[in-house]
Formats: sequence, structure tokens, C-alpha cells
Amino acid sequence: MPKNIKLAKCAGFCYGVRRAVETVKKLKSDNPDKNIFVLGELIHNSQVIKELEELGITSLKELPEHGNGICVVRSHGESPEVFEKIKLAGFEVFDLTCPDVKKVQQKAIELAKNGYYLVIVGKAEHPEVVAIKANALQFSNNVIVADSIQALLPYEQELKQHKKAGVVVQTTQMLSNLNSIVSYLIPVTKELVIENTICGSTSARQSEAKELAKASDLMVVAGSKKSANTTHLAEILSGITKTIHIETADELYLYKDLINNAQSISVTAGASTPPNVIDDVMTKLQKF
Ligand code: SF4
Repeated sequence: MPKNIKLAKCAGFCYGVRRAVETVKKLKSDNPDKNIFVLGELIHNSQVIKELEELGITSLKELPEHGNGICVVRSHGESPEVFEKIKLAGFEVFDLTCPDVKKVQQKAIELAKNGYYLVIVGKAEHPEVVAIKANALQFSNNVIVADSIQALLPYEQELKQHKKAGVVVQTTQMLSNLNSIVSYLIPVTKELVIENTICGSTSARQSEAKELAKASDLMVVAGSKKSANTTHLAEILSGITKTIHIETADELYLYKDLINNAQSISVTAGASTPPNVIDDVMTKLQKF
């Protein structure tokens, strides 16, 4: 019997990533004589980074002390201090922070300004979270990042004393994580404001993939293992059905037996997975 292989509608580039990749390419074609740099990798995908380098768009691991040309701030955003440093180094800043990430920064700033103890639900070391935290710290020192209840426990007394807490969420977090942190905070605080800032693209991708997983013997998640939204997606789906997370179609052969034994297979992909990677995965799967 032929296998039933489906591709999720929400697989691949979200609008923030598509906007970043298209805009940076246009920036280079509009300014062929200028150096174009991106602070960090524009997206978590080595093929896209290579393609950009071939066009003359360089990823900077660190900001140099001096430079010239245009320096792009990627969709994760940066702290106000980094924006200043880019200008001081001699670059023009081109801000490609995703509008959804900007919204989280704004909500975090409002809560901090209004005296709420700010809890950022997310991974402390993720660049998006680092920038959200730095923006809020301009207005209050009562800012913590937590990706689990465990991470909040040391602050329980402080939270109780402060009485009012506000929550914002890294755009690519899992809703279940937000729910568990909120359930912990309700009895600990007197006033709790929750801003569910998980972005629409992440929510839609996760919901659709969950429905597909319920009806599939195997889920294939394509995308970088460095990408937060892709790894979360694989994590969520592995709780529903057998799930494999691959970076490229070449890794499919590692799971030959799983694929051969599955009758219905669904494919989804993270927000930074380019269309050609998804096409390759579909083509190789159909050949199995
Ligand atoms: S995942 Fe959401 S917040 Fe992040 S770049 Fe895409 S649309 Fe923007």
C-alpha cells in the first residue's frame, strides 16, 4: 500500500524570518557598494547563511570596535546598549527586529515601568530573551527569566513581598510551559498580569502539527537543532506520536526502519527552515 505523506500548511519560514531574509537581500542589491553585516546569524540555518555570504552579506560573531557600512539587527532584536554600540563603532543600524518581538519588548517595558515584578518565560541565554530582559532592566531591577517552575523557586519570597507580578513570554515558547508557570504564580502573587506573547505564527504551527501528529504514525520535523521553535515543535510532537527531528533530508536514512514501518507520515518544519529543505524532505520520503 502506498504511504500517506502529508506536509503541514504552516511548515517553514514564518513572516518574520521571510521578511528578514528578503529585506537583507534587497538591502544588498540597493547598496551594492556598501558593506552589509548582520550581528549574529540572521536565521538558524547554515544554508541560508552561506547563500547570504555568497551575496556579500557577512554574519558577525561579535561587534568589532570600528567598522563601516550597514549593520543589521536580526529578528531576535537587541538591547538598547547594543544598538548604541553599533552606532559608536561607525555602522548605520538597520533594524529587522520582528514586529512580534518588538511587541514583547514593549509589554515588558510597560510592566516594568508600572511596578510589576517581571517574569519572562523563556530560555535565559536565547538572544530574543536577552534583548527583552535588557529593555525591561532600563526601568526596573525586578526582572527574572524562567523556563520552569524550578527556576522561579529562589524568587518565591521576593515575589510574595512584591505582591504584583507581570508575565511576558518568549515568542517561540510552548503554551504548556506558560500554563505551568502561571499556575505556580497565581497563589504566590496578589496581582498577576499575563501577556501571552507567544507569536501567532508559532501558535498556528504548533496547533496544526499537534492535529497532524494525532493522525500520523510518524512526524518528521525539519529544521536546525539550534532553533528554539523547531526543537519545541519536536518536543511537543514526541509526546503525541513517534517523532524524528532532522536538519536536512540526508538524515532520513538514519531512520529507515521507522519510516518503512509507518503508513501515515506528516512533515512539518520550523520557522527558519527554507523551502528547498522541505521540498527535499518530501521528495526523499516519497521515494521510500
Ligand atoms: S517566530 Fe514569530 S516572533 Fe519569531 S520571527 Fe517568526 S513571526 Fe517573528
